[in-house]
Amino acid sequence: MPNKPVEKVMLENERYKRQELLWGSDGQAKLGSARVAVVGMDHQGAYAALCMASLGIGNLVLIDGEEIKKGQRFLGETLQPGPRAAAYAAIIRKVNPQVKIETYQTDLESKIDQCTLTGANVIVDATNSQRSKSLAITYAREFKIPVLSTSSKYGYTKTMLCKPENDDPAYLMPMFEGKKQDELMALVMCGVVTEEVRKLVFNEVENFLKSPVRYRLGNGYRFGFLEENEEVPQIDKDLMKNMKIALFGGGALTNWGAIAASLLGFGVVDIYDYDTFEPHNINRQVLGYDGIGNAKATHIAKKIKAMTKGQTQSTGYNMLLTPGFKTEKQYDLVFDMVDNSYTRAVNTAYALTNDVPMISAGALPFAARSITQVNGKTTCFACIYDIFKKGMEEEMIKRASCVSNPNASVVMSNAIGATMAVIESLTVLSPEVFGEPVNGEMMYRATGARRFGFNPLKKVCDCYSKPVPKLEISEEDVKQFLKENPGALLR
Ligand SMILES: [Zn+2]
Repeated sequence: MPNKPVEKVMLENERYKRQELLWGSDGQAKLGSARVAVVGMDHQGAYAALCMASLGIGNLVLIDGEEIKKGQRFLGETLQPGPRAAAYAAIIRKVNPQVKIETYQTDLESKIDQCTLTGANVIVDATNSQRSKSLAITYAREFKIPVLSTSSKYGYTKTMLCKPENDDPAYLMPMFEGKKQDELMALVMCGVVTEEVRKLVFNEVENFLKSPVRYRLGNGYRFGFLEENEEVPQIDKDLMKNMKIALFGGGALTNWGAIAASLLGFGVVDIYDYDTFEPHNINRQVLGYDGIGNAKATHIAKKIKAMTKGQTQSTGYNMLLTPGFKTEKQYDLVFDMVDNSYTRAVNTAYALTNDVPMISAGALPFAARSITQVNGKTTCFACIYDIFKKGMEEEMIKRASCVSNPNASVVMSNAIGATMAVIESLTVLSPEVFGEPVNGEMMYRATGARRFGFNPLKKVCDCYSKPVPKLEISEEDVKQFLKENPGALLR
């Protein structure tokens, strides 16, 4: 009789393994005992709370006076009717049951409402209301609590750290007053806000946010401000509905990229991955909270269908990405969202040989980046990162050594890198409206004086018209490589 497969369960003591490599269990305990108040549970507050819960901020206080609108969803789940803060809390608790969440059904409208902020170590005002921000800031000044002010409207989002000694009216962010929040912008900012909360909790004074973080759609510089009367162009929904895209990889980047892709309204978003959800990836791979032991590709595909209410078709292909792999469909755009250089090389070769544009997203614990490669328009990923050579070397070292050291990884940079990459699809698919693709690397650096930036390149490479190098690796190749690089395993 065949053995029944062992059902995998979440092991809570493994949840933070990959980030404890960075700050130890002491650091994690500090996050666990922190209390963060989120004022406003529209999109901006909802995603910030989700990301903070994933990181393991132990106590979240969600303050919001609104009710859920019928049919509203979050991560593909229907939000329960009633107070908005409680409805989001119910889903965020599933994402991380270790987090204690309190909810208050009120807005910050008068001094009385300030009591909801009692005991907070950090306040995040995520409303578009100057009144709310003003009350949060006056309370925080009295009790010396840092306040992050974050807001969004269609195509534009901004975050600032309010300094208690300074009475800058810019902290109230008047340009967002009365505007509807933008879910995509909220998503791209949630990792930034969470990373700034982490620095405040760890009291990393030298790295506190000094200048505002901005992100915008539209032609031109992605990280600049929006003029007072500037209108961001609308996304052509009919165009997007005809687009077929694929996400290569099923890890942290893809989990966040899938949320972003669901918001853009593509006709098809397919997932390619061979792996299953493990207890130690759940804190970053947010869609896996109810999928431990499941194949990532099919699980994420199911989530995409739920998030888009079936508007986006999604198939999960449970397969390993190996040199020369083929896809059943022809895609308009593919995303490289894997976590190792060899598979990145394999994906790049796929894009070049199949003449498909590719956007590569990457994340380190304190940095993220996105590179867009389009035939005849930009320098490809292989040229920028020398990824064929780097990927081959990394893979040969991996095959020759028997130890595998897990890499440190956090939720924030993965959320930022993936969302940033998916947003760039607008420049590939709709350049006449959203501007030509950036040639070069777009970057987020958690400790940079400017958190976002990019290195524009002038040169455009011709790799789309050249054959790609052979990426298959034999045992002989590994032996040969070790002979030529005797110190490789010690690196
Ligand atoms: Zn190239």
